[in-house]
Amino acid sequence: MKKRVAIIGAGPCGLAQLRAFQSAQDQGAECPEVVCYEKQSDWGGMWNYTWRTGLDQHGEPVHGSMYRYLWSNGPKECLEFADYSFDEHFGRPLGSYPPREVLWDYIKGRVEKAGVRKFIQFNTAVRGVTYDQNSGLFSVTVHSYDNDQTSTEIFDYVVVASGHFSTPNVPYFEGFESFGGRVLHAHDFRDALEFKGKDVLIVGGSYSAEDIGSQCYKYGARSITSCYRSAPMGYRWPDNWQEKPLLQRMTGKTAWFADGTHHHVDAIILCTGYKHHFPFLAEELRLKTDNRLWPLSLYKGVFWENNLKLIYLGMQDQWYSFNMFDAQAWYARDVILGRIALPKLAQMQAEDLAWRQEEETLETAQQMFEFQGEYIRQLIEATDYPTFDISAVNQTFLDWKHDKYEDIMGYRNKCFRSLISGTMATPHHTPWLEALDDSLEAYLSETPAVTQVTAI
Ligand SMILES: Cc1cc2nc3c(=O)[nH]c(=O)nc-3n(C[C@H](O)[C@H](O)[C@H](O)COP(=O)(O)OP(=O)(O)OC[C@H]3O[C@@H](n4cnc5c(N)ncnc54)[C@H](O)[C@@H]3O)c2cc1C
Repeated sequence: MKKRVAIIGAGPCGLAQLRAFQSAQDQGAECPEVVCYEKQSDWGGMWNYTWRTGLDQHGEPVHGSMYRYLWSNGPKECLEFADYSFDEHFGRPLGSYPPREVLWDYIKGRVEKAGVRKFIQFNTAVRGVTYDQNSGLFSVTVHSYDNDQTSTEIFDYVVVASGHFSTPNVPYFEGFESFGGRVLHAHDFRDALEFKGKDVLIVGGSYSAEDIGSQCYKYGARSITSCYRSAPMGYRWPDNWQEKPLLQRMTGKTAWFADGTHHHVDAIILCTGYKHHFPFLAEELRLKTDNRLWPLSLYKGVFWENNLKLIYLGMQDQWYSFNMFDAQAWYARDVILGRIALPKLAQMQAEDLAWRQEEETLETAQQMFEFQGEYIRQLIEATDYPTFDISAVNQTFLDWKHDKYEDIMGYRNKCFRSLISGTMATPHHTPWLEALDDSLEAYLSETPAVTQVTAI
């Protein structure tokens, strides 16, 4: 009997796993039967934009947290697939920070070429995963929206690739219940034009705060006030953007901050992070962690130490993204194929702990890129995933950080060299701040778009 592998989710991680198996099969390997369940009607995970918020058309929590006009927040050269370059997909150089739809197109291009769509059951939500110690097998219960039927199938391995930026962490601040404006979490943010002409309060000091605030600025918010719990983001913000220590309370439309100052606000966007949330997994299979570079209990950042046939992809805080998911998927594949043997549990736990101890010593962003880069290097070294220059990627990350401190609203106009094809990116035809149309068509056209995005 062929072994069976269930993959939960067809975002970049699930697709990396499918591509990893297909690549081995193409080279003559005997591969297991793979079934990927995806609750949305198309692939790409986060990169498959939805206008929906709250519950979807099936009454399920909406997965998507991406918003309109999102452009890559790091250089594309840092996430490029080593087996499918941007050059191969687009046939010409692009800028270094493409918008979401362009990156979605790139993600899709690789898996279309690999022909793996046939392994995915779309419109199918995984509802339950249990493990039977006696048989050594998983039962995976799924709900197909197409025929409204629930069914259970048996698998040898389960790969959890369901992402961890979908279940919002929503704090409460005094006075929210009587605030006269809109309070939303970043998960429900879709279109910055909604905040045009408004005084916006952003709660949080990480990527979402930085990028959603920048979006609001770009699309015409009157003022942006961002507030932080631990440290200010510290960029040179435009004149109508101020950073404050944490919000203490709201009285009507007045926000009060920890330094005793106050400011009028029309809307509050909570950029307060996400929870790792796996309601479909049996309790003993559930990873419980905050968002960090080294979640514990995952050998090689991937194998659930309490049950090594359960594999988690992409659960780390991400500097590296698509190429890290690939490195993990190739490694997991090779363990499943019996090409790599796992050591004894005690050794795995010791290694896991050593990574965590090192993670706890990291202070600077540079140390963090290098930590994650080294992790990826070790994974890649063990498989046939194409090698690439990880220290050069780390350097690109470093330049990117520097560019942001120089000009937070202009860093996306910079260009980097591909570390896969060697091609130099070319400046986009319109500076980011002026490029209001983020469509694939507008981005790939040779000249600036003439259409204007207008509020409805
Ligand atoms: C607003 C935002 C901006 C980002 N910007 C960037 C960026 O610029 N650059 C970057 O590299 N990364 C960015 N990221 C990170 C992004 O999450 C990763 O790039 C990538 O999408 C993670 O891939 P994934 O496959 O782990 O998860 P996801 O992309 O979230 O995909 C998970 C998939 O699993 C499916 N799924 C979930 N639960 C179930 C279930 N029970 N049954 C069946 N299917 C299920 C979902 O529908 C989804 O398709 C951003 C994330 C967010 C939220």
